[in-house]
Amino acid sequence: MTEARIHGYLVLAMFVLAVVSFIALLRVAAPYGRFLRPGWGPTLPARAGWILMESPAVILFIVVYALGTKAAAEAPMVLLALWQLHYINRTLVYPFRLRGTGNRMPLVIALMALLFNCLNAYINARWISHFGAYPDTWLSDPAFISGAVLFLCGWTINQQSDTILIRLRRPGDTGYRIPEGGLYRWVSCPNYLGEMLAWTGWAIATWSLAGLAFAVFTTANLLPRALANHSWYRQTFPDYPASRRALLPFLL
Ligand code: NDP
Repeated sequence: MTEARIHGYLVLAMFVLAVVSFIALLRVAAPYGRFLRPGWGPTLPARAGWILMESPAVILFIVVYALGTKAAAEAPMVLLALWQLHYINRTLVYPFRLRGTGNRMPLVIALMALLFNCLNAYINARWISHFGAYPDTWLSDPAFISGAVLFLCGWTINQQSDTILIRLRRPGDTGYRIPEGGLYRWVSCPNYLGEMLAWTGWAIATWSLAGLAFAVFTTANLLPRALANHSWYRQTFPDYPASRRALLPFLL
């Protein structure tokens, strides 16, 4: 079987994984953060977990990218820069900004995310620097421009919202408060909304099934989590703003 065909099957596998994850996560909230609970095996410090599970999205992505025949072309390099803008922050900056000393996550969650990130790094990096076709003119194509703008808007929303959450705690705090400001005026999980917009932008900017598979997976993963977080907020805080929605302002 050719590598191109294997790549195609792996992209298909990610769509299937998205459907399976969506159904499972609507029933059972992933056991990390506020939904951490016993019964999921050994745990590791949350900070180490984030670095471990996200690192393939930086390292493996760069390695696979560099092996591509079009790695030195301009448009793939711009796509690489967009990807790494997000993942260098997520892997090497975000974990050190987290507050909540002593927070842990199940090893099984970190390992599942690690495997997912290996798959995701391979299918996306291999596509942009090898199987995909991105001439220099791609950078002035409406698909690239609109996708890149959406990616950067989503990334900015995700950053701003994560920062608001992080600042709710003083160093060493572990408690939860009602987040205010930014898009929290309208929704409980603007960080997830930003993440979903960013990867939808990536799917458009790369105009690829690999990118689309990741955008669909991100939504399948984070939509159920946003619903669970939202109902947790409403149950936990009697004064939680009644007009605030879970994920989409005024809608959901
Ligand atoms: P959360 O919003 O659950 O938590 C983010 C951080 O803020 C955690 O340290 C959490 O602490 C803390 N926190 C959350 N709510 C409050 C609050 N009300 N008061 C005080 N502190 C709070 O996000 P996730 O951990 O699920 O995700 C983190 C980032 O990773 C997000 O930007 C998300 O978009 C991204 N992500 C992307 C995925 C994808 O599929 N692409 C999958 C999962 C995450 P604690 O850990 O103690 O709850």
